[in-house]
Amino acid sequence: MHVHFSQDVPVKYRADVMVVGGGMAGISAACSAAASGADVVLADRFGVVGGNATTGGVAAFCGETKGQGEVFDAVVADLEAFDAIAPYRPGTVHARVFDHEILSIVLQELLLRRGVRLLLHTRFVSAAARDGRITECILCGKSGLEAVQAKQFIDCTGEAEVVHTAGFATEKGREQDGLQLPMSLMFFIRHVEEQDARVQLPEGWFGRIDREEDLPMTTLWPNGPRSNAVKLKVPMFDSTDTESMTAAEIQARRRMMEVLDYYQRVEKQHWLLDHCSPQIGIREGRRIVGEYRLTVDDLRAGRSFDDAIARGTFYLDGHKPDDDKRTYQLPPDELDVPPYQIPLRCLLVRDSVNLMGAGRCLSADQLALSSARVTTSCSMMGQAAGIAASMAVDRGCELRDLDVQAVRSEVERRGANLEV
Ligand SMILES: Cc1cc2nc3c(=O)[nH]c(=O)nc-3n(C[C@H](O)[C@H](O)[C@H](O)COP(=O)(O)OP(=O)(O)OC[C@H]3O[C@@H](n4cnc5c(N)ncnc54)[C@H](O)[C@@H]3O)c2cc1C
Repeated sequence: MHVHFSQDVPVKYRADVMVVGGGMAGISAACSAAASGADVVLADRFGVVGGNATTGGVAAFCGETKGQGEVFDAVVADLEAFDAIAPYRPGTVHARVFDHEILSIVLQELLLRRGVRLLLHTRFVSAAARDGRITECILCGKSGLEAVQAKQFIDCTGEAEVVHTAGFATEKGREQDGLQLPMSLMFFIRHVEEQDARVQLPEGWFGRIDREEDLPMTTLWPNGPRSNAVKLKVPMFDSTDTESMTAAEIQARRRMMEVLDYYQRVEKQHWLLDHCSPQIGIREGRRIVGEYRLTVDDLRAGRSFDDAIARGTFYLDGHKPDDDKRTYQLPPDELDVPPYQIPLRCLLVRDSVNLMGAGRCLSADQLALSSARVTTSCSMMGQAAGIAASMAVDRGCELRDLDVQAVRSEVERRGANLEV
């Protein structure tokens, strides 16, 4: 059964470029479009920007952190100003750890400095589209439903929510069964003196883990003095399904307590729970069906493209979707890939004329995504999408009619190293 729902919604904002989602991709898109002189609105459903990198507690940049473009450079420079990021080390296997609370401040200030109109606590709920053209996005913030009219739209929601809601094609999960890469919860512990340590799981609440081999994949990350971040794998949930996401969050917090209990009770660690990320980290949502679908074979071949706009360097981080151990879909000797390029066509939504998807919702197969989803490549894609959108606005043309060499040159002029 369905109900028909319709309502007049005021057009509250008019913009050249509307960016939905303020993770690393969305921020880079909004900042680069604004740097091109576009009037930009960015909406995020949370009260803080940064997406996985802040609210998801993922406090490390993977892949190459130099040559990602001027937006990423500005983010790193600001983190450095706060002494909130590890020093640069050449090579792409190291994660460059940062303080994710400081990142959320750095990102909001960067958006505001560039004149982006930022709407927080504002969720994208629907899109009006005619003949493949999005005319308005319907948002719901604390003032209720409001519309944004724009010439170009960029979907950086991670779940391709704009693309999907507008009725354009998307895909998700592993080819054979649709299972997504597992989610992981990041929680944070404090190291305390022995007399202050205590077991925090009361009897009879959740399961007990007594042996190390019964732990889910659990990784310890640095988190400043006397603290660590703990990453806990939570597989077999669907980030695009309301009930599944609810179940994922509930299970993740239960597992967090069980894992914490194991370390406190069995390993005798003097840990106390400090806090838990407000949302579980999502590796994979929907991916757009773009003009080109990046494949794992492209990555293995280190492929280059005439319309390259981003570069990936990270390994194939394709966790097995159906277990919670440290298991991968590929054997260890098949995980590395050479640097590869990502073409603009992976961002162009096949069924639309004025909508792009950037970040982890790019057009790619699951294994290609497992590498291209890291924050560095997401930022590069976002920066390129912002450049392309503002160029289309300036030239009054469709995205597909853009001179791709002009987009690429501008992307490179703004510091993106596309070399493979
Ligand atoms: C557990 C885990 C560990 C990881 N480890 C690393 C690592 O060490 N290094 C690394 O570089 N990468 C890592 N990654 C990958 C990386 O964090 C993400 O893939 C990347 O941050 C994605 O950026 P994004 O901007 O595409 O999406 P997201 O960060 O997911 O941002 C999407 C944004 O859209 C907003 N949004 C969503 N829906 C709506 C809506 N309807 N309306 C308004 N706003 C909306 C969200 O609030 C969010 O801010 C990890 C990921 C996970 C899950």
